[in-house]
Amino acid sequence: MAARLEALGGTSDLLPEEASRWQAVEQKARQVLHRYGFQEIRTPIMETAEVFLQSLGVATEIVQKQMYLFNDRGDRRVALRPEGTASAVRAFLEHGMDKTSSLTKWYYVGPMFRAERPQAGRRRQFHQVGVEVFGSASPHQDAEVMAMLMHLLKSLGIRGAMLMVNNLGCRNDRPKMLEYLKTYFLGHHMDLCPDCKQRLEVNPLRILDCKIERCRSIAKGSMQWSKWLCKDCADHYDKALASLRTVGVECHPDPHLVRGLDYYTKTAFEVVYPGLGAQNAIGAGGRYDDLVERMGGQPTPAVGFAIGLERVMMALEAEQVAIPPAQPPAVYVAALGEQARGKALELLQHLRAAGIAAVGEFEAHSLRRQMENANRQGCPIVLMIGDDELAKGTVTLRDMATRSQAEATWEGCVDEVLRRLRAAA
Ligand SMILES: [Zn+2]
Ligand SMILES: [Zn+2]
Repeated sequence: MAARLEALGGTSDLLPEEASRWQAVEQKARQVLHRYGFQEIRTPIMETAEVFLQSLGVATEIVQKQMYLFNDRGDRRVALRPEGTASAVRAFLEHGMDKTSSLTKWYYVGPMFRAERPQAGRRRQFHQVGVEVFGSASPHQDAEVMAMLMHLLKSLGIRGAMLMVNNLGCRNDRPKMLEYLKTYFLGHHMDLCPDCKQRLEVNPLRILDCKIERCRSIAKGSMQWSKWLCKDCADHYDKALASLRTVGVECHPDPHLVRGLDYYTKTAFEVVYPGLGAQNAIGAGGRYDDLVERMGGQPTPAVGFAIGLERVMMALEAEQVAIPPAQPPAVYVAALGEQARGKALELLQHLRAAGIAAVGEFEAHSLRRQMENANRQGCPIVLMIGDDELAKGTVTLRDMATRSQAEATWEGCVDEVLRRLRAAA
């Protein structure tokens, strides 16, 4: 007997009812992004591993512990994308867009992959909506991107989200910051958690982000690391926050916010939804002014974010936001007898060609059962064809709400359906 097959741990199916909620959310997100002038880019879900080694850094947790890596049949080192920015930058460079001076605003929607222990809000295949703006160094651009993120969440119905912000400085500030942090944390080495002991070697900035209480209280004493920020970075951040205030978006400075990725510079941000427990970040992003250059392109300032759709769905559930169900088909065609069933297919195709969503089955079911099916699917109109109708060249049209019936000719019934649907709209 064949083994029972199941989806891999940390991956799951979205059955139609749930998928239609996702469609509604994605559609809404696209609407908002288009309003800000973003255009969609679709990159492959797998890339040569080098794309992520170069962008994320070999020492990051994602690359070391979470990335799906394999050798393909040509023995090339391939990775399933763990995030979207690296692929977007790779595409940006591959198509020579770093050599144009125009502003590029991209968004993407799709699955990402990380080998993590599955838990609520954390899947091995998860889905993101992300945006990237290439070619602007302005603090107003940071503000616009953050304002758009909050606008997007609000338009989905998420009202309790909080925007946390921090300033991570530039590459000139980084060595001084890291040296200061390293010296500070070395003094508390014994009390750090095992992960942070390792972070101390690799990137002490990451210790600020540790969720363990003891590490957090040690980190509190190190918060003057921000004094190593240069004037340019300090001014940029102040202007971005001031700009954000002018458009009425509230934000909360959080010196612990460092993000798990090494490529962020200056403004970094995260949106948390307090009701979600430990995995409460719905989205995050920031400026990454050095990444394009680091991956071999012309220096190009950039800023972006990604939101996790699984967590958005959890937040929508927590806020009890009702997502309207998908539109039911407008017409059900019920047929009695083999000849009528053939006619039913013809009629269905006429209806669909006229832009009407129409369904029917070709099984030898009783009229009663077909009416039940029409009812269950929520179709407002049923067209019935039996021997009588075949003989006369007509169909019987039933209004499911009023239960009234009328006769229409074969030629005229599509127009009659259209007329009724327009009247009901
Ligand atoms: Zn700086
Ligand atoms: Zn720790």
